[in-house]
Amino acid sequence: MGDTNKNVARMIYYALHALQHRGQEAAGICVHDGKSIHSYRGIGLVAEVFTETQIALLPGAVGIGHVRYPTSGAHTLENSQPILVKYRDKTIAVAHNGNLVNSGELRSELEGAGDIFSTTSDTEVIAHLLVKEIQRYDLADAVRAVMRRLVGSYSLAIMCNDTVIGLRDPLGIKPLCIGAIDDGIVVASESVAIDALNGRLIRDVAPGEMVVLRDGEMNCIRLVNSPRPAHCIFEYVYFARPDSIMDTKLIYDVRVNIGSILADEHPADADIVSPIPDSGITMAVGYHQRSGIRYKECLMKNRYVGRTFIMPDQSMREAAVRMKMNTIRPNIEGQRIVLVDDSIVRGTTSRRIVKMVKDAGAQKVHVRIGSPPIIAPCYLGIDMASRDELIAAHKTVAGVETVIDADSLGYVSLEGLIRAIGLPEDHFCTGCLTGIYPLDIPGERSMSSQRRLTDFPPNDGGG
Ligand code: 5GP
Ligand code: MG
Repeated sequence: MGDTNKNVARMIYYALHALQHRGQEAAGICVHDGKSIHSYRGIGLVAEVFTETQIALLPGAVGIGHVRYPTSGAHTLENSQPILVKYRDKTIAVAHNGNLVNSGELRSELEGAGDIFSTTSDTEVIAHLLVKEIQRYDLADAVRAVMRRLVGSYSLAIMCNDTVIGLRDPLGIKPLCIGAIDDGIVVASESVAIDALNGRLIRDVAPGEMVVLRDGEMNCIRLVNSPRPAHCIFEYVYFARPDSIMDTKLIYDVRVNIGSILADEHPADADIVSPIPDSGITMAVGYHQRSGIRYKECLMKNRYVGRTFIMPDQSMREAAVRMKMNTIRPNIEGQRIVLVDDSIVRGTTSRRIVKMVKDAGAQKVHVRIGSPPIIAPCYLGIDMASRDELIAAHKTVAGVETVIDADSLGYVSLEGLIRAIGLPEDHFCTGCLTGIYPLDIPGERSMSSQRRLTDFPPNDGGG
């Protein structure tokens, strides 16, 4: 984020708050005050990591921030971001959303050449590569050279001395957008961060595009081109906030559409529709609107229960679950209920909730899910279990229905999901739903031959 005269750390703090759902493990902010970089990182939620005093110790008009959701590397403070590396007169800070598939190889190669790493995060590899290329090339060519080496998903905020760069991988797997605020420019994963600063969404960063913020000016350069993007479809299903606009689509509308298509594809003979909060709410609204079945909530989530701690025994775990989610008994007793959720990953949530709702007196429980079955792991930024843990990887829909003990179970079709989003059908990464990935992943099927990347010719991508 660049802001010509303000203290930017506080604004980054607000933006990170708006993005808290994207990662709860750690938070960090790096700023540049015209002379040097100041940074602070910690384990925990944004509000736990940053106090007033901490923010005051971060002077500067440009900076970047990050909330961490671990997909690669150990859960330690060193692995929290932005990651900082120094080389001669350059300090480079990198904040990364996504996951590299080839970071192991790149790291071995760099270590073979004498690099010393201070973290186990895939993001540090990006910082090291950039430091090397920046000694040889100007910024755009250095970043282009780094991009040619990276395989995986990466939306990046990079600060090189006092220049801030936003960069989206050539397939645009993870989101990134640009906004205008009072007297500055923001690049963020979701538009809700721009809203939090009372700014205006300008547009999405294009796949393979670099946005350079320097001296209050913005320069955009398309570095690498792909015939088609491969946006993470799970952002629309679960990850993003409903009030975000992502790759031109309002997530709220997408999820209402999903619910509506679910109602067409999997109708139910029921008295009420209820979401599994919070992720199922907008989809349940869509199901209700389309089916005409009354909307009535059966479950309430306690928003103040933090991450579920590792409980020492089963009875404590159950107490924690009850603390997090409670049934509204009078709404449930004797009713035939459609329960709507966004996804089934391991199946433990659905099983538990169906049981709670039945114990509270439901006559029938019909589960409806706003994504197709998740049958394959994610290597590109969603912490989605290995195949062993994915219930739909080894069970049919009927098998999952039995395990979660629902009276019926219906998942939205892939075609229906894509129609609900409204982008062209070949513009997504659907790896978790199809087992086919948009780039080469060892041991997995890919369609990367259809997505060959090419460099944009010099001076041809501006904009
Ligand atoms: P499961 O089937 O594994 O018990 O969980 C499914 C539930 O987890 C759904 O309600 C869905 O909203 C939520 N979920 C899906 N993906 C993720 C994720 O990446 N992180 C977290 N914390 N929850 C997720
Ligand atoms: Mg959920």
